[in-house]
Amino acid sequence: AKASTGRHHRRYSPELDDQAGEEARLGVEMRMGLDTGQFRMVYQPIVGLPTGRMLYVESLVRWQHPERGFVSPADFIPVAEQNGLIVELGEWILRTACAQFVAWTAEHGADAPLRISVNVSARQLAEPGFAEVVADALAATGMPPEDLIVEVTETAVFGGGVAVQAVQDIKALGVRIALDDFGTGHSSLGLLQTVPVDVLKVDKSFVDNVTMAGRHAVIATALIQVSNGLGLTAVAEGVETAEQAAELHRLGYQLAQGYHFGRPVAEPDFRGAALTAR
Ligand code: C2E
Ligand code: CA
Ligand code: CA
Ligand code: CA
Repeated sequence: AKASTGRHHRRYSPELDDQAGEEARLGVEMRMGLDTGQFRMVYQPIVGLPTGRMLYVESLVRWQHPERGFVSPADFIPVAEQNGLIVELGEWILRTACAQFVAWTAEHGADAPLRISVNVSARQLAEPGFAEVVADALAATGMPPEDLIVEVTETAVFGGGVAVQAVQDIKALGVRIALDDFGTGHSSLGLLQTVPVDVLKVDKSFVDNVTMAGRHAVIATALIQVSNGLGLTAVAEGVETAEQAAELHRLGYQLAQGYHFGRPVAEPDFRGAALTAR
């Protein structure tokens, strides 16, 4: 059973019982995985249009389990959110990504990516003292705050409260904020009035059919206009073809990310491919 279904309406059934057991096992194994170094980070370029030249990079976590093999973050991040392990895992992610960025800058200077994005989940953002965790990671790694982009989802900041306060506290450190999967939430435009955002990551669903005349292209156009009008930076996510990249550029997008430009890869492959190819 997929870990993402049925969590909110749990009735007794043997199948759901299995699912609860599976999540518990995954939680125990994550704990072990954290202690034994089974997690690692991969890095995907964010490029300029139309050049395709890498400008930024997004960090994404991977779990290489000794028996299960590769476990997708789409499966284990929700479990880690529920059992609270995301707090420790998230701290490791932040430090690892920042340390990697600082190392690239030292080694490659102007050829290194200019900024790095780190994903932060709703639970991390709601955790008291999260901004201090970020400040500690910056201090421990020597990461320049203005080169760090913290990616939060619309759902994490929806409803205001502690999450929006956390975003404000992070911004006060000089760190930039990106709204991830932009356009897929319940109040995408409304959030822009209250959350101090720097970067809009326009969701892949608007990019997928952008080359076909129709509603996706209209929405992609509207989103770049909103972004430009507010003085924000837009990144088109999930660009898989040259045609999509060309159309996005025509619509005014200056930044893009996706398999067409480069898949997420681990060090040292990232250094070998993305950095030296520039
Ligand atoms: P996301 O932050 O929206 O990340 C983008 C996802 O799309 C990544 O999947 C990436 O590998 C994938 N992707 C990039 N370009 C393309 C493309 O052209 N086509 C397609 N089909 N996919 C593309 P991934 O790495 O499996 O991560 C899935 C989600 O898990 C992320 O979505 C994010 O919500 C979460 N996640 C991943 N890493 C982290 C992390 O370090 N911390 C937290 N809190 N969440 C993470
Ligand atoms: Ca992201
Ligand atoms: Ca995204
Ligand atoms: Ca996503």
